Amino acid sequence: MDCKLRAKNCGGCPLLGLDYAEQLKQKEAAVKKLLGKYGPVNAIRGMENPYHYRNKVISTFTTGWGGKLTSGIYAANSHKVLPVERCLLQDEVLDKTMEAVRAAAIACRYQPYDEDKGTGLVRHCLLRRGVATGQVMVVLVTAQPVLPGAKNFVRALLAEAEKRGVTVTTVVQNVNPRKTSVVLGDAEKVLYGKGYIEDILCGCRFRISPKSFYQINPVQTEVLYGKAIEFANLKGNETVLDTYCGIGTIGIIAAKNGAGNVIGAELNGDAVRDAIVNARANNLKNIRFYKADAGEFMREAADEDEKPDVVFMDPPRAGSDRKFLNSLIKMSPKKVVYVSCNPETLARDLAYLTQNSPYKAQKIQPVDMFPHTAHIETVVLMSRK
Ligand code: SAH
Repeated sequence: MDCKLRAKNCGGCPLLGLDYAEQLKQKEAAVKKLLGKYGPVNAIRGMENPYHYRNKVISTFTTGWGGKLTSGIYAANSHKVLPVERCLLQDEVLDKTMEAVRAAAIACRYQPYDEDKGTGLVRHCLLRRGVATGQVMVVLVTAQPVLPGAKNFVRALLAEAEKRGVTVTTVVQNVNPRKTSVVLGDAEKVLYGKGYIEDILCGCRFRISPKSFYQINPVQTEVLYGKAIEFANLKGNETVLDTYCGIGTIGIIAAKNGAGNVIGAELNGDAVRDAIVNARANNLKNIRFYKADAGEFMREAADEDEKPDVVFMDPPRAGSDRKFLNSLIKMSPKKVVYVSCNPETLARDLAYLTQNSPYKAQKIQPVDMFPHTAHIETVVLMSRK
């Protein structure tokens, strides 16, 4: 399979030229090289159909031929926007949704934002689809709070989407006036619908707000979470911490699978609000979520002599930190399940833990969450020697 955008320096699929089986072989070898010294590495879990897996799209507006508004992604190592209509990674429903967004923006005469001049109105569009529920969210990122003719835009967008067989369930305006490459700003206004979408993973229902983190490959997320829960091997009364918990997915699935008591911690306030609602929506009472830096949260828990049985940790690409890891060692849970989207920082944190505590990696499971890209997801079970 090839894509015409590759010749135009797209950079979204650096591995597309490689056979998928070969990609998996290379990723597994990379994990063995980085992590093999800490414990046994299982065969990587790949996808049966490794295309169109992304449930989230970010498209940046720009001026195309003849001054017409278009949108796409930044070309590799550049700030030039490459127009994208179809993408082998994206959910095809979202390609059609983006087409509808462009048509509606053109009908409303919205001007693309120019980051050099600081002129124009519409910057980016974030789309998300709950693949299990069919719900679709459109987040229009604007450079200023005023969106002229917002009602007309919503009407045009819903109609253009319906023409393409897509039902948009919510539309949100996000305001980002800053000179930055970060996509979303702070302020948000719901223009249509509930302001969030829902999805179902591992039998649990989750609400997802625009600014909350949510795994982008739902098929492989079930594989990943399934492994994390299997590694935890819950028997029924354990106290479980879900750190870097996002909207509470892992903790909620753990609670449904036997955890006696779950406490989650997450820095993003919107995600914490989603997590609290999600616990209730799944009829769980034995679960609490806190808005906190995970390292701070762990230090307080350790100071209060908390004795969790299992700690799930799922930090961002930068990995965890000393404050977190030292508190983890102090609390000494029976099991630590480390979910990582960056094997380099995972290796660094495993090195620290194995040098400074009796923890040892018992199982290391790579999961291919990002086919055709170089990214590797891994879940590790650690316990004391
Ligand atoms: N476990 C969740 C989220 C994983 S992504 C899931 O599977 O969906 C990592 C999460 O860590 C994000 O939600 C991010 O907002 C959060 N985060 C980043 N830095 C953090 C910190 N210092 N303390 C707590 N959470 C943090």
